[in-house]
Amino acid sequence: MNKVKNYFFSWIAGRMSTEHLLSRFTHPLLIHPFYHAVTDDYLPHLSPLYKPKNFQKFKNDLDFLGKYFQAVDAEDVLLYTQGEKKLQENAFHLSFDDGLREVYTVVLPYLYRKGIPATVFINNDFVNNETLFYRHKAALIVDVLTKKEISPALSKEIEERISIPLKKPLTAKVLAVQYSQREVLDEIAPLLDIDFEQYLKKQQPYLTTKEIHEMRKKGFTIGAHSVNHSPFAALTEEEQIEQVLDSVAFVKRTAQEQHRYFSFPFTDEGVSGAVFQAIYKPSKRSVELSFGITGIGTRYEGRHIARIDMEKYGRDAQEAIHKALLKASLQ
Ligand SMILES: [Zn+2]
Repeated sequence: MNKVKNYFFSWIAGRMSTEHLLSRFTHPLLIHPFYHAVTDDYLPHLSPLYKPKNFQKFKNDLDFLGKYFQAVDAEDVLLYTQGEKKLQENAFHLSFDDGLREVYTVVLPYLYRKGIPATVFINNDFVNNETLFYRHKAALIVDVLTKKEISPALSKEIEERISIPLKKPLTAKVLAVQYSQREVLDEIAPLLDIDFEQYLKKQQPYLTTKEIHEMRKKGFTIGAHSVNHSPFAALTEEEQIEQVLDSVAFVKRTAQEQHRYFSFPFTDEGVSGAVFQAIYKPSKRSVELSFGITGIGTRYEGRHIARIDMEKYGRDAQEAIHKALLKASLQ
């Protein structure tokens, strides 16, 4: 959505009542809001990429959701999709992507107290802080570039390594580094005295197996989010399918999760029908439900489910949900 269109869309959605927007759908309506992290801190590996909600804002979001929707878990969604379970009221299924530690330290205790279930989508490579996601590497570099005075010679060297022929500030160029070019981030880091390994050890940005087990014990669901969070558009269809099935198998092994849920890294837009057919094809690793990011709606007989990006769709839950409802009701 372009900026002007987005502005008017928000403006209209903001002037409609939640009740009116909900009345445009057949009852009951099931929505899927998702987040990455919730934190009161500035996180160098996240904050240059997007603004995670602080704890108070997150609580406000849940208060809004709780007013209009009943919280359900992934299994309820699965059974509902299969026609095995009915929903009495409008409902929401909450989820979190990227397996970030704050989901355990900040989100879990609160949701557990409130009795709100959630699904946490994890990546094989990040669990136990084994590797840093290449986007988080870019964020760490930008964090240092914005805080540290660097010499014109060093700036030129970094610029040459990235070699993106754009008239943009260096930080924007670092953020524009693509998956295929990700090694360049490992080359730049030492030039700025950034040690990714050290950061992984000290900061521990991701969930550990132990934390995942504890979340499972408390009734949370673990889902898969690909092996290394690569953008699927940069992969062949075979590679995309392997990313999905491998991460589903990893979740089963690591979390002993009996059902197989997958959320697409970055976006599900552009993923071909052949890939969906392949990941749904019955096997021990096949996907039972998959999730995307396009708001509200389902495809593939309810099996592929759109979610609402609560960090990007609006400043608060009301704005995000109103926008998603209006968009879906116009489709
Ligand atoms: Zn993600």
